[in-house]
Parts: sequence; structure tokens; C-alpha cells
Amino acid sequence: MRIVRSLSGMQSLSSRWGGRSVGFVPTMGALHEGHLSLIRRARRENRIVVVSVFVNPSQFGPREDFSKYPRPFAADTRLARLAGADVLFAPSAAALYPPGFQTWVDVSSLSQPLCGRFRPGHFRGVATVVLKLLNLVRPSRAYFGEKDFQQWRVVRRLASDLNLPVRIVACPIRRADDGVALSSRNVYLSPAQRFQAARMARALRMAAGLIKSRGSVSVALRNVKRVLRSIPDCRIDYVEVADPETLAPVSVVKRKAVILAAVRIGPVRLIDNRLVTVGR
Ligand code: AMP
Repeated sequence: MRIVRSLSGMQSLSSRWGGRSVGFVPTMGALHEGHLSLIRRARRENRIVVVSVFVNPSQFGPREDFSKYPRPFAADTRLARLAGADVLFAPSAAALYPPGFQTWVDVSSLSQPLCGRFRPGHFRGVATVVLKLLNLVRPSRAYFGEKDFQQWRVVRRLASDLNLPVRIVACPIRRADDGVALSSRNVYLSPAQRFQAARMARALRMAAGLIKSRGSVSVALRNVKRVLRSIPDCRIDYVEVADPETLAPVSVVKRKAVILAAVRIGPVRLIDNRLVTVGR
């Protein structure tokens, strides 16, 4: 596996892909089984696999955990190689955002609700860095996890609106045995907080079941909120049932919906979601 740090190094590689299929997995590192499932899928579906590791400063708010975000680069290198990556692209923030940088991508409506309300500017940072990385790597397919449901929708819209020559591939959420969605930030949960995170995951699964069996959004939301409010040291950012395409809130589910939650348990902000299909 080749490690590429400079933008010119990446551009020089990607200018020579020729007709070969290239799968790209953008990450912020601290790789876990969730990331690795994306890399393995990219490996199965492409001739060349590129993984990026970049903790993108522009998607963190001023009071968020940018400086504390885990950066175990040696372990990431090993894991990416074992999962089948051919290239690990790890650019610097100084190279991606040089002095004078001022061009931003705004996927307007999809960036507004849910996490957008609590993390102003977050999706602008995500959309901008994803477009930059896609331009540098020039993949045929780019792989995103459904764990970050809103991000996946924002990126899919970006690719479609800007006619990017890439297929955005969504991959299912990988969970630990206790049901908690794998996340690089989970390492900061104490055992007691981890136990509560598992309760949140169970509550969301139950709520999805309730919507499926009874179509009742209000009962499902009430149940999840009751569980979350009983968790000590927990702050709810949101729990919502939304249309999976537009992310607009729904009160009656006709066919498909997604129940999404973001909470802070102690020092960690957790997000999770469950897709629900009603009927057959
Ligand atoms: P991150 O490093 O958190 O920016 O994540 C990089 C990519 O991995 C994103 O597309 C995430 O949605 C995806 N990802 C993170 N955690 C999981 C998970 N538990 N299951 C599936 N995909 C995930």
C-alpha cells in the first residue's frame, strides 16, 4: 500500500488511472470495523482502492472536539492495508486549505435540519472537503456509511447537482454486539456511559418496530424520548422521524421513513438511525 501525503502526488496518481475502476473511501481515521466494511466492499467492486484519512477542520464547530479527535495514524495504516487499500491518501489541512481559501459548497436544504441545526456550517465543511477529495482522487465509486445518514444524503445530492462522474455507494451501519453503532468517538465513553448508549440503540430499534407495526410516529418518538430522558448525563439534540429522501419531518409513514437521533452522553455526541419500511 502506498501512502500519499501531497496533493500533487495524489493528482499525479489519479491522472494515470486510465480505464481502471477506482473505489474511494473517505474517512477521518481512527478506523474501526465500520470503516473497514466500506474498504472491503470497495475492494470487492474495484480494481484500485483509495482510502483517505483527513480530520477535516472545516466541519468542526469552534467548541467541538477537533483537537481531541483520535489520530492513531500507524494503526490506521495497518488496518487500511489489511482491508485491501492500495493507496492511503493523508493530506495536511495546510495543503487542502491554503491561505486565501474561500470557495465553499453549500447543499442548501438537506444541510439545514437535524445535525445541521446543532452544528452550523458542518455540512458546508463536509460537502466542500468531499468535493475536493473527489477532484483529487477521481474515483469511479465513493463509499459512505448510512450511519451518517444526513451526510450520505448531502453527498449524494452534491454528486448529482454538480454532475460529478462518480457513483455514491451507501453501506449499512455496522454495530457492536450491544447494538451501539461503531464510531471513532465511542472510545471516550466510560463503561456506564457505554451501557446507556446501548439503551439508546435499543430504544431506536424498538421505535422502528413500533412505526413498522403500528405506523405510529408519535408513540414511537414518545417512547424513545422517555428512555433518553431517563439516562443520566444525557442531552438530547434531536429525535425525529423523517422522509429518507428530503429529511423533512413526517407524522404519518406511508412507505419509508428514517428515525434519527443525536444525543450527548457525557463527553460524546452520538448519532444513530434506523430505516423503516412500512407494509410489505
Ligand atoms: P468518519 O471517519 O467518521 O468520517 O467516517 C468515514 C465513513 O465511514 C463515513 O462514510 C461513515 O458514514 C462511515 N462509517 C462510520 N461509522 C460507521 C459504521 N458504524 N457503519 C458503517 N459505516 C460507518
